[in-house]
Amino acid sequence: MLFADVIIDISHERLDKTFQYIIPDQLVNELTVGMQVVIPFGKGDRAITGYVVDITDEPAYDIDKLKPIARIVKDSLPIESQLISLAYFIKRNYGSTMNQALKTVIPIRRREAEKQKKEISLNISKEAARTELTELMARKNHAIGKERLLKELLEVEPLDWELVTKKLQVSSAHIRDLEAKGIIRIEKVRTYRNPHINREASPKQILLNEEQEAAAEGIKADIDTGRNYTYLIHGVTGSGKTEVYMDVMDHVISMGQQVIVLIPEIALTYQTVMRFYTRFGDRVSILNSRMSLGERFDQFERAKSGEISIMVGPRSALFTPFSNLGLIIIDEEHEPTYKSEVVPRYHARETAIYRAKLAGATVILGSATPSLEAYSRAISGEYKLIQLHKRAMGQDMAQCEIVDLRQELASGNRSMISKRLRELMADRLSKHQQIMLFLNRRGLMGFVSCRACGHVLKCPHCDVALHLHSGGVMKCHYCGYTTKAMKTCPSCGSKYIGSFKAGTQRLEEIVKELFPEARVLRMDADTTKGKDGHEEILSAFAAHEADVLIGTQMIVKGHDFANVTLVGIIAADISLNESDYHSGERTFQLLTQAVGRAGRGLTPGVAVIQTYQPDNYAVVTSANQDYDSFFKQEFAYRKLLSYPPCSHILGIQVNSPNQKDAYAQADILAKLCKDTDPEVVCMGPEDAYVGKMMDVYRRVIYLKHNDYNRLVRVKDAIDKFLLDQKQYRSTTTWFDFDPIRTL
Ligand code: ADP
Ligand code: ZN
Ligand code: ZN
Repeated sequence: MLFADVIIDISHERLDKTFQYIIPDQLVNELTVGMQVVIPFGKGDRAITGYVVDITDEPAYDIDKLKPIARIVKDSLPIESQLISLAYFIKRNYGSTMNQALKTVIPIRRREAEKQKKEISLNISKEAARTELTELMARKNHAIGKERLLKELLEVEPLDWELVTKKLQVSSAHIRDLEAKGIIRIEKVRTYRNPHINREASPKQILLNEEQEAAAEGIKADIDTGRNYTYLIHGVTGSGKTEVYMDVMDHVISMGQQVIVLIPEIALTYQTVMRFYTRFGDRVSILNSRMSLGERFDQFERAKSGEISIMVGPRSALFTPFSNLGLIIIDEEHEPTYKSEVVPRYHARETAIYRAKLAGATVILGSATPSLEAYSRAISGEYKLIQLHKRAMGQDMAQCEIVDLRQELASGNRSMISKRLRELMADRLSKHQQIMLFLNRRGLMGFVSCRACGHVLKCPHCDVALHLHSGGVMKCHYCGYTTKAMKTCPSCGSKYIGSFKAGTQRLEEIVKELFPEARVLRMDADTTKGKDGHEEILSAFAAHEADVLIGTQMIVKGHDFANVTLVGIIAADISLNESDYHSGERTFQLLTQAVGRAGRGLTPGVAVIQTYQPDNYAVVTSANQDYDSFFKQEFAYRKLLSYPPCSHILGIQVNSPNQKDAYAQADILAKLCKDTDPEVVCMGPEDAYVGKMMDVYRRVIYLKHNDYNRLVRVKDAIDKFLLDQKQYRSTTTWFDFDPIRTL
């Protein structure tokens, strides 16, 4: 016998409140998760509707007490059903409880007071109001507040409640009194906490070039004939992918459908957002991760009510409850931030494709450096591949030069800036052109260690090194633990203890020493702490208030600086040395994006890549802007070692504040994996990359198999085991399918 868990009200905060029903035989083949059903409920078995959120063969209660589902609500596939099916997909494929998955997908109405605006207007004619005012003022000791309010209302109507009580300082008792007398009226207006700027759509459009036109027309033709595919637009940096998206968006919206545009959070800048507003005006809304739950909820309500047609935002915008979704766009498809770092660890690309399937919508993925996953599927024909080979205005791609840092050192130059890069910088500065210098990672060199004995100072709560910050404090970048910097080594007593300066900060000093006249801006996590830190630095640079911009990967995203003619990549190797099978791919992506920053305007650009590994394939292929040969080499390597996309990996992480429990539980689970499916390759358990974080010990197990579903089955077996397990209750277990980072 099969049983269904049914949820009655999905906007309720407690989504775990489900009720179990028996699935009658005649419905067994038809019923799926997400469907709306009619069930007998409460005393008297009132017939009410609910949604099926799970189907199981194990009853959670005494079968005699369960009632059967009455019927399926036919011909209704409300948006809620789609979202519940999506949650089920996430639960199944990424490992989480249904409850966690539902909370990811469906915005919950919090008890947080809904912002309701109250407005005050006159309830009588102006004439009559003037008479009231005169009578009021004639009275001795009359209420000044009432006088002020009436005077103001004779000038402007309606008045905001907040304004009246706060600015005009009229007490609410006085307002209520005037209302009771019928002189004024108070009306509630629902306001959406709408962060956007009011704007009219502007009809002015860029004329697409030939390649762009062909791309857009092809997709539109498919849509017109009712075919929904997933496209991968592989276009070189600056090829005008966004213009192609907007052309197709226009088409979809004119058909009365809606569009979701995913953009990596880091690229969600004023510039990008304005491009969408300028084109589509008030039909657009924006989500970002700094919004409160209430704000998010409001944006989703606007989408549901049909007030907007386009939602632009990071990963979570994927769950916008548009009822007639026609198109999902994922820009910079390769970005690791499209994978959630918290449970459920879903990938926005796969989840978007599934949502599109449910909704009958089209998906467009775009990138200058597609992920191995997307590109391999595009060449196998699973996605349709569209290539944009030229830059939008026909500008040349930047010329690339590789500088071998080993030779540089041999010739006696120990500076972070090579001789060649220095020459080019001097040349550009003299021509009044701009320069970007790029250092992959902040902080990598900022940790505190002893130069006498090599002792590294670590966080007492996490298994990571402390970093030196301004103000003489050391900080843990994982938990925020802060302590005063030490003067002597706690291990050997030497006073030669200190930190290598954080890369970007040191680089800034060097540039200033070499070119005292140059105006330098630095952009990294330290200089962009304020809310608009990014924006300020980038606009200052765009306005040519500085000659050199130094930064981490933040500066390579989505900004067009026409006057930048030189890009310097200080240490291409840093990301190559990460202990992660993605390091080649990340290096190629970062270098290509960085090189792509040069020569966006009319003057051709040059990029200098400094590296200790000038022969490395990721370095060479990015210097040649040769994605295809990068892909071939990277794919061969993945195939050889059975890494995604050639195979699949399931990471299992066991966490516990009790070290013994973490170890014992991980051993038990590893054995369970091997017993469940002996053909699945099982590695570990071993300590996680950060073996202890915030006083919690972490052990990991990796499973490998080329059939994703077999990994799902092992996950299900573990889930089932954990449900009944009485031992090791201090542990928690997380799943991560095809992890993006080393656990
Ligand atoms: P991508 O997303 O591929 O990096 P964008 O869409 O941001 O490229 O386009 C790069 C720049 O070229 C933008 O400033 C854009 O306005 C401009 N652009 C794109 N297409 C055209 C076109 N057909 N004509 C003129 N300018 C264009
Ligand atoms: Zn020491
Ligand atoms: Zn810490």
